[in-house]
Amino acid sequence: MVYAASENRYEVMPYRRVADSGLILPALSFGLWRNLGDQKPLANSREVMLKAFDNGIFSFDNASNYGPSDGTAEETFGAVYKKDLHPYRNELIITTKAGYHMWPGPLGQFSGKKTLTAALDLSLQRMHLDYVDIFYAHRWDPETNLRETAEALDLMVRQGKALYVGVSNYTTEQVAEISKIFDELHTPFIGNQMSYNMFNREAEDTDMLATLAQHHAGLIAYGPLAEGLLTDRYLDGFPADMPLHRTNAFIKDDPKGTVSKLNALNKVSADRGQTLAQLAMAWLLRDKRVPSIVIGASSVDHLLDNVKVADNMTLSTEELAKIDAILKG
Ligand code: NDP
Repeated sequence: MVYAASENRYEVMPYRRVADSGLILPALSFGLWRNLGDQKPLANSREVMLKAFDNGIFSFDNASNYGPSDGTAEETFGAVYKKDLHPYRNELIITTKAGYHMWPGPLGQFSGKKTLTAALDLSLQRMHLDYVDIFYAHRWDPETNLRETAEALDLMVRQGKALYVGVSNYTTEQVAEISKIFDELHTPFIGNQMSYNMFNREAEDTDMLATLAQHHAGLIAYGPLAEGLLTDRYLDGFPADMPLHRTNAFIKDDPKGTVSKLNALNKVSADRGQTLAQLAMAWLLRDKRVPSIVIGASSVDHLLDNVKVADNMTLSTEELAKIDAILKG
């Protein structure tokens, strides 16, 4: 069936500008890390992605290594883009990244010029695109000099293959360091994509938000639900072998305490007439320096639950204090 996007798609989700740039993002972006790759039927992935777009989520986040198998999440995105979304290219923000393992050999990872350049070309091919809206260096490269990485990203913009660039998983000091080079090169740097959720507040503890703001950039938060923990799924406990991203792995150190916090937070969300997932997202979006949070979902039900965060994104001072107290345990 030929897809026609919902005519009401811009009436659902709030949109937020990244600092004072021309880049505007929906409060929720949709990520394809491991929910829609080669282990999922394409028909299901297509349904979730199109439902996202119909609900005003016009920003799709990918990476060369997403799948689970390298490249397959971009292939999924490319298949849906080619069939359904390409008439909407002007409305879409499509992002990708490179730096984790992508292909065999020493050049298949990190952030040298050859690696980043080849990775972007492959991503464009897989996604059937002429350009991406944002290209991120996916991780800090301890060996390559930072100027080379910055210049490789800058070159992508000069070549018209990326409109904006960003970094991902950089520390505050690393962001400050590369921002200086971007300022010098006049590279349109828009931010750091990093892990941020109620349990993981490193961004607040390290002055990340202020540092990014100083450089006219924002924090794009990934893993807002701590991979599904901050939902009503685990109120009775979570499996000890639950696979958690390294940035959330510490949560497993105190399973009993975590579950007790989840239940207390769930009570706060119920008092607001929200689900715990919606509360967790509203809490992140309380700060405009976080223009968008990247969610993952492989079911339409989960996606629609998350979209409803738009109905109530305001938290009172009392609610924020209550949440802080719960999280501090
Ligand atoms: P989330 O914190 O949103 O967690 C997604 C998980 O939560 C999925 O298992 C999903 O289940 C579940 N879930 C989502 N909504 C609900 C709901 N309403 N109720 C119950 N369960 C729910 O994000 P991810 O950790 O998946 O990361 C999101 C994106 O962030 C990635 O796809 C990627 O784009 C980006 N990312 C970037 C990284 C980087 O290094 N730059 C690292 C990690 C992620 P189900 O699949 O069953 O719907």
